[in-house]
Amino acid sequence: MRGLPAVHRFLSHPQVTGFEALLGRVAVKRAIHDVLSVARSKPATRAASFETLLAAIAQKLSQAQAETLVPVINGTGVLLHTNLGRAPLSQAALTAMQHIGRGYSNLEYDLMGGVRGSRYLRVSTLIGDVTGAQDALVVNNCAAAVLLILDTFARGREAVVARNQLVEIGGGFRLPDVIKRSGVHLVEVGTTNKVYLSDYQNALSARTSLLLRTHQSNYRMQGFVADVCAAELVALGKRAAIPTVEDLGTGALVDLTPYGLPHERTVQEAIADGIDLVAFSGDKLLGGPQTGIIVGKRTYIARLRSNPLLRALRVDKSTLAALAATLQHYATPSAVAQIPLYRMLAATLEELEARAHGYKDALDGDGRSLTVAPTVAYTGGGTLPLVEIPSRGLVLDFTGASPVELARRLRALPTPVIVRLHEGRCILDLRSVEPSLDEHLKQMLPTCYN
Ligand SMILES: *Cc1c(COP(=O)(O)O)cnc(C)c1O
Repeated sequence: MRGLPAVHRFLSHPQVTGFEALLGRVAVKRAIHDVLSVARSKPATRAASFETLLAAIAQKLSQAQAETLVPVINGTGVLLHTNLGRAPLSQAALTAMQHIGRGYSNLEYDLMGGVRGSRYLRVSTLIGDVTGAQDALVVNNCAAAVLLILDTFARGREAVVARNQLVEIGGGFRLPDVIKRSGVHLVEVGTTNKVYLSDYQNALSARTSLLLRTHQSNYRMQGFVADVCAAELVALGKRAAIPTVEDLGTGALVDLTPYGLPHERTVQEAIADGIDLVAFSGDKLLGGPQTGIIVGKRTYIARLRSNPLLRALRVDKSTLAALAATLQHYATPSAVAQIPLYRMLAATLEELEARAHGYKDALDGDGRSLTVAPTVAYTGGGTLPLVEIPSRGLVLDFTGASPVELARRLRALPTPVIVRLHEGRCILDLRSVEPSLDEHLKQMLPTCYN
């Protein structure tokens, strides 16, 4: 230790104490020790000044702060950005989480009988009301939903899937791998571009446990393609007395055409087609918390419910509270606008353009150039991959900073701002920015200018 200042001098310095609340004392001490031990190991820094070491410690601590979970402002225009946490929650969902999370609840308690109750009962009824399904179950995410279904019905047996549906979703969810890891023998039918009902028919054997249909999610196929419609597949499943399962993923509960988007298959349509079990995500087009929702026929859901694996995939009380509150918005059609995703989709170009001019009027000049520009937003999150949503944003050009450097500075703000770098331009898309953040952003953007 000789020559270097004592640890406690750094620990009590205001530039360091501020980090303790967020990072904790252990992490702060570790940062100090790390910096001191590096300094000690090199002849050149063995007698480094207190100030030099303090600066190094402060930098290490702000780096550590960037690695904690913090809110960011999404200026990418990708509304369900998986890296940025997919769907923002509605106010009602947030309130419900707080309300239920704060204390005790009847999570698994039957208030009428005073005995143990079901964790899934209330939310299942609500999902049934909204989707038209007989019954429902909620697990951790859609990947878990698929896993539970395969484990329950197909373990040690065969599942038939069309080759053109063997997708990989972002984050390494590869359907063929999930199927194999579930101990299910994957029977691929059709070719890359075409599959016919006869392909499925010919693949049926005494070992076939289910027919699996997957949403193409994040890619599209064009040209000479052939698919089997859901109703045909359901009819085949019925004849073979095996369930037809659909991994719908995206989970739209409303028609998207009023938002200027192409029609996206809804959960209700899958149910109406007679699919026995439909799995979808809670945090994609549903606009709720991360969950996997399974809806379908009562007898099949009952079998899923009795699978011991469910215990490992179950969701907690605050997630269930947020999901129930989000689903309530769908129970009253006019309330869908309370879901942030649908508010962002409903924003008109005039509104976005007016907001963009508000930024320009407030900040343009003094070496900062903000240009109002047409931009392209996306739903993202593995949904509607080819659909470009017209939007408006700002091209940011601050003297002395390249677009890459400017993007870096924006990410270093106390509430980091994530922009899109496109064709060498730094773009802030306003469709994915909640209007209530505009004033905050107008104050923070100039701090990135030298
Ligand atoms: C997104 C998606 C999944 C994975 O959903 P998570 O909720 O992220 O686990 C699975 N299948 C399909 C078809 C999807 O689109």
